[in-house]
Amino acid sequence: MARVEGSALVAQAIQREGIEVLFGLAGGPIQDIMGWAPHCGVRPIGVRHEQAATFAAAAYGYVKNQVGVAVLAAGPGVTNGVTGAHVAYDNCLPLLILGGSGPQKGRGTGTFQETENVPMFKGITKMAVQADSTARLPEYMAMGFRKARTGRPGPVYLDLPSDVLQGTVEEEEVRWVSNYYTVAPPLGHPDQVKRAAELLVHAERPMLIIGKGVRWSEPTMELRQLVETLSMPFLTSPMGRGFIPDDHPLNFGAARSTMMGHADVIVIVGSRLNWVFGFGRQFPPDAKLIHIDIEPEEIGANRGVEVGIIGDAKAVLQQLLAELEGKTAAVAQRAAAGPWLATLREQVEQNAKGLAPLLDSDAKPIRTHRLLREVRDIFPRETIYTVDGQLTLASGRQVLGSYTPASRLNSGSNGCMGVGVPFAIGAKLARPEVPVVSINGDCAFGFNAMELETAVRCKLPIVFIVNNNSGIVGSNLEARMGLPEGYGEHVATYLPDIRYDKILEAFGGHTEHVVHPDDIRPALSRAYQATRQGQVACVNVIADPQESMATRSQRAGALMGYARE
Ligand code: ADP
Repeated sequence: MARVEGSALVAQAIQREGIEVLFGLAGGPIQDIMGWAPHCGVRPIGVRHEQAATFAAAAYGYVKNQVGVAVLAAGPGVTNGVTGAHVAYDNCLPLLILGGSGPQKGRGTGTFQETENVPMFKGITKMAVQADSTARLPEYMAMGFRKARTGRPGPVYLDLPSDVLQGTVEEEEVRWVSNYYTVAPPLGHPDQVKRAAELLVHAERPMLIIGKGVRWSEPTMELRQLVETLSMPFLTSPMGRGFIPDDHPLNFGAARSTMMGHADVIVIVGSRLNWVFGFGRQFPPDAKLIHIDIEPEEIGANRGVEVGIIGDAKAVLQQLLAELEGKTAAVAQRAAAGPWLATLREQVEQNAKGLAPLLDSDAKPIRTHRLLREVRDIFPRETIYTVDGQLTLASGRQVLGSYTPASRLNSGSNGCMGVGVPFAIGAKLARPEVPVVSINGDCAFGFNAMELETAVRCKLPIVFIVNNNSGIVGSNLEARMGLPEGYGEHVATYLPDIRYDKILEAFGGHTEHVVHPDDIRPALSRAYQATRQGQVACVNVIADPQESMATRSQRAGALMGYARE
């Protein structure tokens, strides 16, 4: 008979779930999980701050289509990781957070870094629970994976007291569980599917909204077939891009307000009518909604629906396509000849005209759109972009395309800044064969800039770009904050022209510093080449601090990159 330690059981459970990477910052009592991980074929990535561990794990899970795992040391390590749970919860991302805590037996006696972790995570996870015995650790892990992954995905917090983790049990006593979730996707109710098909067949101005909930069953063929058979225009949520390539002729994301304001039948799949979509109030009052979602409680939230279909996106879309078979020829013909697509096309052309001077701008300091146009032109279609920061995010939505599933990562339905760098680390580990480019405003970059060291140490050749306009939305925010006249200290405007590239220089990597617009392309090109040779790259671009978010939203209609085109 052999005895086995709790930390080893946790590492084994991760391996049994088929997960190859975990993220954490080594510290008591979870460092032993990180130590056991390589023995089980799991790679522990040591980050520089626990927030980055949870962000990187969430991104890894999203890109890899599995649960991301983060391990957090007790006390401050756990509190540092809380933001990751919040972001994952808001974005319905499967994430298992394993937090260390002091010994169960010493509760209330003032043990080192004693905290009540479970209540902290209650409102921002699908489940927060403390493991109470070493032998049951595999059972808790299975529970965590099942809750994180099934139904609507989301984060789970599992608290691991030091005596439970460091305790040992006879191998025979360990409660291993297998087959702890079904892979069968839930089908929609046939009556509702039928009603949805009828509505679509008679629609004059149909539209489709694609959200990141489609990531998990990836119905790329079905989505494409649906829009094509009905000649139905579509748009996506901030992260719902790439499941149908952005350059599909029925992508009318650039005419978003017009489409949302005039559609008569709206299909929503894997997305929510939260603030991102103006709570559904932008749709005409008499528009008929068909909402497909795996979470029953989501149907009808914020806006009544004509048809609510509870089920998996791919399974329901297949049912819907079967129901539509043989009924769509007239619909597609009507759509092609009718004014709906023509109106949207006109809107897209108008917006493109408005955007062209920004994309071609030779202004110095450099404008965000010009920088992003060069990015767009240099990197290949399959590139995974992580985009972070207010101006950068808003402009990125207009300029950068996504053409493959789960290749666009941003703060999604949360808006948290600081995700760009750790999301890129998670994405690169999930898909090492694909270029990963992380574009960050300077404020956003600052949150997790130290993770460039992680990227270098773990040999993750990512291009990090800093759109450096010296402050939060350049100097624009400070101008609008109502500081006292002549106030002598900057609050939201940073030191001018900071050399963020020097951070990477300290760790070793390829660096570029760009001031003139003509130099953007060669610098990006060299950075891309360097990553192809295995180096990490950082391109610091001195951008215009006067570039105004308010002006931008009037000019190009972008508010946070989402709410209006
Ligand atoms: P977005 O920000 O892209 O709009 P959200 O994260 O707000 O996306 O919402 C995603 C939605 O997708 C959630 O309501 C979730 O329940 C739903 N969802 C998750 N998985 C599936 C699935 N397999 N099939 C259908 N809907 C899903």
